[in-house]
Amino acid sequence: MHHNFIAGEWLAGADAAANINPSDTRDIVGQYARASQAQARTAVAAAAAAQPRWAALTPMQRSEALDHIGSELLARQGELADLLAREEGKALPDAAGEVLRAAHIFKFFAGEALRVGGELLGSTRANMTVEISREPVGVVTIITPWNFPLAIPAWKIAPALAYGNAVVFKPAELVPGCAWALAEIISRAGLPTGTFNLVMGRGRELGGVLLEDPGVQAITFTGSESTGRKVAQSAVGRPGAMAKFQLEMGGKNPLVVLDDADIEQAVACAINGAFYSTGQRCTASSRLIVTDAIHDRFVAGMVDAMKNLVVGDARAPGTVIGPVVDQSQLEQDLRYIGLGTQEGAKLASGGNAMEQWNGQPGFYLQPALFTETTPAMTINREEIFGPVASVIRVKDADEALKVANDTPFGLSAGVVTQSLKNAARFKRELQAGMVMVNAPTAGVDPHVPFGGRKGSSHGPREQGRYAAEFFTTVKTAYVNP
Ligand code: NAD
Repeated sequence: MHHNFIAGEWLAGADAAANINPSDTRDIVGQYARASQAQARTAVAAAAAAQPRWAALTPMQRSEALDHIGSELLARQGELADLLAREEGKALPDAAGEVLRAAHIFKFFAGEALRVGGELLGSTRANMTVEISREPVGVVTIITPWNFPLAIPAWKIAPALAYGNAVVFKPAELVPGCAWALAEIISRAGLPTGTFNLVMGRGRELGGVLLEDPGVQAITFTGSESTGRKVAQSAVGRPGAMAKFQLEMGGKNPLVVLDDADIEQAVACAINGAFYSTGQRCTASSRLIVTDAIHDRFVAGMVDAMKNLVVGDARAPGTVIGPVVDQSQLEQDLRYIGLGTQEGAKLASGGNAMEQWNGQPGFYLQPALFTETTPAMTINREEIFGPVASVIRVKDADEALKVANDTPFGLSAGVVTQSLKNAARFKRELQAGMVMVNAPTAGVDPHVPFGGRKGSSHGPREQGRYAAEFFTTVKTAYVNP
């Protein structure tokens, strides 16, 4: 049994849930405790009590703790990648990449902990000086989704701690294994008791406490748009002071392929962006917007390349695409595949669920490519969050840009072109937080800002030094010596 970590102790919960391997549903990864609301309240109180002690340590002490966590993640990369692949279904090479990324994030913020600075300005008043400094926000609730079970917790926990905040972390129900392993590492990093708390369980049960307890000053959330709206409503509507909040939500990311694209590069970007990690990435390229003159060659290249997308057990050698995360996500993917066909799109490749792989029962789905789609179709409007992509044929670059931006989302967007002029134009005019030129829409660096605009995000950026905007609060002091 894996327990919650609250106020420095490992505690059994109100009940527990089995963590099931999506590559083989007979395989139980482990039993994980689900916290009660009273335990969530205890975690917030412990964090509030610990935060001033953590903030009072030297920046070097905070830096060393974060560096220690990063080093242990690096040292245990293989073992943690195996756990990640087993509980989430991400193919092992991608899972190993995610562990590395989580380690790099802790290392990066170990450095940032030493670089918290301010500004010293003159005043309009004689003899007065003005000091601008950054202080911790206080207690931060961290709520994460299942699709990056280590990287997303890392990119929220590391900056929260680096800037002197205390943390209550609630991971997604489907992936408590990686969250627990990370918490166990953090529990040995020398933080004052109560600085970091792990509260596992259902969001809708624990949300009331984690979002509305007056001891919580800030909420950082990544997940679906509908849950994001609830988080925002709680943060603003709760009694007393509102909580600061940051939301990273869905995407419907376009990859534009122009006439002058290198066809092999275009296909490689689209295959990676649309289907790797089983398409379960908020930055996945789900709309492939292709100009007329290159369209047929691109589709032929895609159909050909998709033959190499070996679907299988996430941990089996040779697997490129692991299973979908669970039964309900698989049903959602299949519902959208059905809708695509009903609305007149042509299924050019894949789209079949396989109940078994090598005799193992799991949630296997052959990546699906739709062609002859229109921007108005449901499959081009709503986030599917699976290995399903659509090709939209357009006349020229002008129409491509219009279609790319015709979405409520704005997380990531890409263009494949060999023209500097086209690259510059799309970089400027794509309405997204992140723009990729001749690169997949998914796959980002750990040391630079991450986030979107429009319906994809709300609040300051995550990662890189821009993370300070959310995890600190600014104080302006006027000093008359
Ligand atoms: P989800 O919204 O169902 O759950 C996310 C988290 O919110 C989970 O921990 C869940 O327990 C919690 N939660 C649910 N109801 C809650 C409530 N009422 N109060 C408080 N917490 C609650 O999302 P998911 O299915 O885990 O993840 C998939 C979604 O995440 C997709 O929409 C995807 O695009 C998005 N995502 C976005 C990014 C990004 O950075 N923009 C990154 C990864 C995933």
